[in-house]
Amino acid sequence: MSSNPDFDVIVVGAGIAGLAAAALLARAGRSVLLLERGAEVGGVCRAVDSAAGRVELGAAMLTGFGPDGSVGHLCDRLGIRLTTHPCEPIVQVATQRHRLSFFADPARLWREVRREFPAEEAGWRAFLFEMDLLAREQRNLAAVLPLHPPDGWRSRLAAWRVLWLGRISGQRKQAVRMVTEAGNIPARAALVRHGLGAAGQQMIDALLWYLSLRDADECSTLEAAMALHALREGSVTVSGGMPALVEALQERFREAGGQVRLETEVAGCLAERRRVAGVITAAGESIRARWVISTTPPEVLAGRLLPSRRGWLRRTAPVAGPWLAECSAATAAVRVPERYFPAELSGRCLVVPSAERPVRDGNFAAIHAGQEAGGIAGTPDGRTLTVCRFTPSGSPQDEGVMEASLLEALDQVLPGVSRLRTASQTFGPATLEGLWGRPRAVLRYARTLPEYLGRRGFGHRLGWTGMLWAGAWTHPGRLVSDVVEGATAVADLILETP
Ligand SMILES: Cc1cc2nc3c(=O)[nH]c(=O)nc-3n(C[C@H](O)[C@H](O)[C@H](O)COP(=O)(O)OP(=O)(O)OC[C@H]3O[C@@H](n4cnc5c(N)ncnc54)[C@H](O)[C@@H]3O)c2cc1C
Repeated sequence: MSSNPDFDVIVVGAGIAGLAAAALLARAGRSVLLLERGAEVGGVCRAVDSAAGRVELGAAMLTGFGPDGSVGHLCDRLGIRLTTHPCEPIVQVATQRHRLSFFADPARLWREVRREFPAEEAGWRAFLFEMDLLAREQRNLAAVLPLHPPDGWRSRLAAWRVLWLGRISGQRKQAVRMVTEAGNIPARAALVRHGLGAAGQQMIDALLWYLSLRDADECSTLEAAMALHALREGSVTVSGGMPALVEALQERFREAGGQVRLETEVAGCLAERRRVAGVITAAGESIRARWVISTTPPEVLAGRLLPSRRGWLRRTAPVAGPWLAECSAATAAVRVPERYFPAELSGRCLVVPSAERPVRDGNFAAIHAGQEAGGIAGTPDGRTLTVCRFTPSGSPQDEGVMEASLLEALDQVLPGVSRLRTASQTFGPATLEGLWGRPRAVLRYARTLPEYLGRRGFGHRLGWTGMLWAGAWTHPGRLVSDVVEGATAVADLILETP
């Protein structure tokens, strides 16, 4: 590098990925600058103030908290103690004619499936078995890839050698083929192949939509496998919600001397002799660093963050989908009289009111209990539910319409409730732009195997020395636990590099 860096590491984006990597690095003694274009840290995991009170935008439940889980491991390393509550059942799905609780305990899960879909039990078993197998193969393959930055043909060659040459057994080749194929085939094909009927498919659609904001036509089989497998390994909710984790990470980062700059958008990279040497902010300031970690969403990546040198960045046209911010999320805090609150509702429920329409586009509500919504005046015997819906941007935002459609959805789980006090908040495209920011989806039709194994930092084709990638888009999963796993690997890589 031609001049001294200002920082050891610059992290672009203060979502969970950026915060996790930044906190680990700062705590290990590196000088770290975290740049965030928004006014707050947390990204998708932040909470916003609305008429309904403080509402969490994205993640509600956390996987990866078991003994070997990435989130538990991160918290241990940083000395973070969170109060968690196991979810069992993990989540419930209520459609017009069916209600199924997804238990982590297999015996209880199969009892549910047998009750709701007696003729399809074998298909459900085969489908979920395939999902588990695929997810495990993906993990095993990712684990044998060399842990180094994707900095050009050498690293790709090394990965290729590990996967295809030398000591590779026929078994691994088979796994590579299986994972590659699963990455190219929509999850719908697996559902159909295993003989799940329309109602069963809609249940899985609801789950996938909840887990990765896409249905079985949009998710590859591999993505579905990773999400469902993580879910079935068990999940927890955190006291204080995901913002509690965000807060704790930020605190650790600052304690260790890390610097955060909010409302600072990164517009480009400083590049010197095929090495990234820092960033340029939208205001034109150049900040130098030895490493840059980017966690930015697709429009940034494919647009301005990287210098548009010919042949350097192959751009792929975005595939139409919810990540293009054509939908909006409406969140309402709903006060329900205690007597109507169903005892068996575990607190996380997905409601699909119509069997005829697809699971998305307003035909889907996610409910979770326990949200304190101080802003609502209600009866003292009431309990508050938070209801989140995803609706097309053109749909009516009138509160009466909103309330009527919420009632329709809630009727599936809270029968007999005729009056609800609601306060709704609609997040427009600008907010959703951040929520849907998933370049992996943008690039999903042009991937190679190493991209599926992105947790080791291969999640793109843009490798330059000095630049590392973390965040939801680098991983075929996308849950907080996936993001944390990737961010930890990237931080460790920097720490291991002399
Ligand atoms: C509605 C929803 C529900 C979800 N539910 C769950 C769940 O229940 N459980 C679960 O485990 N996961 C869930 N997820 C997934 C999980 O929340 C995300 O995958 C994860 O939080 C993504 O973290 P990230 O740091 O990669 O990205 P983000 O949170 O998107 O953070 C990226 C950050 O980068 C910033 N940024 C972007 N561009 C720039 C720039 N140019 N300069 C500076 N900063 C920039 C953004 O402002 C943002 O703060 C959910 C996601 C959504 C959207």
